Amino acid sequence: MSRTFYVNGEFVAEENATISVLDRGFLFADAVYEVSTVLDGKLIDNKAHLKRLARSLSELSMAPPCSDEKILEAQLKLLDLNSVSEGLLYLQVSRGVADRDFAYPKDARSSLVMFTQEKNLINSPLAETGMHVISIPDLRWKRRDIKTVGLLAPSMGKQAAVDAGVHDAWMVEDGLVTEGTSNNAYIVTADKKIQTRHLGTEILSGITRQAVLSFARKAGYTVLEEPFTIEQAKQAQEAFITSASTFVMPVVNIDGVALGDGNPGPVSKELRKTYIEMALAHQDL
Ligand code: PMP
Repeated sequence: MSRTFYVNGEFVAEENATISVLDRGFLFADAVYEVSTVLDGKLIDNKAHLKRLARSLSELSMAPPCSDEKILEAQLKLLDLNSVSEGLLYLQVSRGVADRDFAYPKDARSSLVMFTQEKNLINSPLAETGMHVISIPDLRWKRRDIKTVGLLAPSMGKQAAVDAGVHDAWMVEDGLVTEGTSNNAYIVTADKKIQTRHLGTEILSGITRQAVLSFARKAGYTVLEEPFTIEQAKQAQEAFITSASTFVMPVVNIDGVALGDGNPGPVSKELRKTYIEMALAHQDL
């Protein structure tokens, strides 16, 4: 069955969901996006995603396509039309259509497109075995706090991981891990502290990161928001990643080095379980 897509106010069949060749998202990656999780047919932490979207737009002086209320209305209708129970809702805003010119056009109207993907997120087999990652140089631009669709460097990183027969890559800059290709990266130290890089322009401020660090602190964990090296990661008790689509996912091997006994560790497992329970209980975490 064909999915229904949302394109600038219209709900249309996938084959009719098209945008102009002159859309600046296509020509300049002049577009930002958000991916919200859907569990039990409901959006998880969507307010926080819309807040980050507003920030990305503002950092790029891009006009919002409409109010947050209208976006939410369209999101809910799209979920309903596609009967999504578990999966993802992708949302993208581009600066719009204008003849090709590097400077921002004065009269372009930003465009909003959305689609859904049904996906098993809770019962992921990877959560049982844990992920293997490799380290790669971070080739991205310097404003990774803005969630733009300029994703070629992470895409190259993910392909390097696939070519190496592993699940993902952790990017390294100046000897320090920034983040995974599409997720935030963490280690658990010998004294059970959770360590992840501090926020800044070098990484994306993950919505899942925010939720996980908040309840980890409440549960009594010490959280160190400090960068770490790949060598530190290889010697860690455990490691994991977070993102809207993976929640908390254990990492059990880095550059061929097994962490601990090579199985998902207790902290990662507990955080994953708590995140899923909280997400199912309160949709806006
Ligand atoms: N870092 C990067 C580079 C990402 O692409 C993502 C996924 N959007 C994340 C972190 C995790 O963010 P979130 O928890 O909001 O999905």
